[in-house]
Amino acid sequence: MKREKRVLVAGAGGFIGWHLVRHLSQKGYWVRGVDLKYPEFVKTGADDFRILDLRNAENCQEAIEGVDEVFQLAANMGGIGYITDVKTELMRDNALININMLEAAAKNKVSRYFFSSSACVYATYKQQKSHNDGLREGDAYPADPDNEYGWEKLFTERLCKNYYYDYGLDVRVARFHNIYGPYGTYAGGREKSPAALCRKVAKAKEGGKIEIWGDGKQARSYCYIDDCLDGVCRLMRSKYREPVNIGSDRMVTIDKLADMIIRISGKNLYKTYDKNRPQGVRGRNSDNSLVRKVLRWKPKVSLEEGLKTTYLWIESELKKKKVAHERG
Ligand code: NAD
Repeated sequence: MKREKRVLVAGAGGFIGWHLVRHLSQKGYWVRGVDLKYPEFVKTGADDFRILDLRNAENCQEAIEGVDEVFQLAANMGGIGYITDVKTELMRDNALININMLEAAAKNKVSRYFFSSSACVYATYKQQKSHNDGLREGDAYPADPDNEYGWEKLFTERLCKNYYYDYGLDVRVARFHNIYGPYGTYAGGREKSPAALCRKVAKAKEGGKIEIWGDGKQARSYCYIDDCLDGVCRLMRSKYREPVNIGSDRMVTIDKLADMIIRISGKNLYKTYDKNRPQGVRGRNSDNSLVRKVLRWKPKVSLEEGLKTTYLWIESELKKKKVAHERG
């Protein structure tokens, strides 16, 4: 197969990074992956994988040397529990990674740079009701992100813009809205709501209960990993340099999400609610008018379909773990 471009995926040991490496490799790119760790569940598809801490400027230089394009996904991050709890460490780590990566990319004159931003940049005052028609890209300003993770993403979006204006670095910025799918963290505190709920349902005994964080009426939209990868690749090949949503515009409450997963499991379970747990903004949804226009992109995988694949994978992982544990 012809290997035309050499690309770097930073954060290649993580959920989206692992999928992106495989996707780009299948498209014929030569891929270098970099992370603090190897992928947790399946071997990487990268041609070259390096363990590097990207908070360090010299490591960013080593990661970027000899590549044409950079996909920057490395971040200290997790679900709502993690990002509301860990503040200084998260802001410091992510700012260091992004400052050093942008600087190394500009110095090495890479031809294009992708930054994975987040729907967490959107202003809190736009997300106070369970119903949300969708956040348009302009709704990030006047700025009021709900958490420090979102503030850092907003800062780096601006840094990307200025690296373009001042140094000509050709940047692309996607605001991901709850990307989910198999081969992502589903336990340990960094997992996000779809994976956490799949784990709880898969572990529950028939007739048992699962606990939902908050009152269950907080609402989000969820985008399947394959659609996300398609969006990222379209954005990289486009001429569009401003931040753009990559997410689904179908919003559901956490309660409904749990019901969908319970239905997939075929179990009879009841739900309890812990209102003392963090639940973030009330309603967050993606407005996809801009992304439809500039990338001709819309998500194709239904929530039912994507959740089924994710649930079955998490269930099989838990079964494997149980068998291994019983064998000692
Ligand atoms: P993830 O946690 O699975 O992957 C992030 C990876 O970055 C991890 O493997 C981690 O080890 C690595 N990393 C952290 N610190 C590092 C360091 N100092 N040096 C090198 N690597 C380091 O998360 P993900 O879900 O795959 O997210 C990828 C990117 O997309 C992140 O930037 C995240 O903020 C962004 N994002 C994700 C979502 C989502 O729903 N998954 C939503 C919005 C934005």
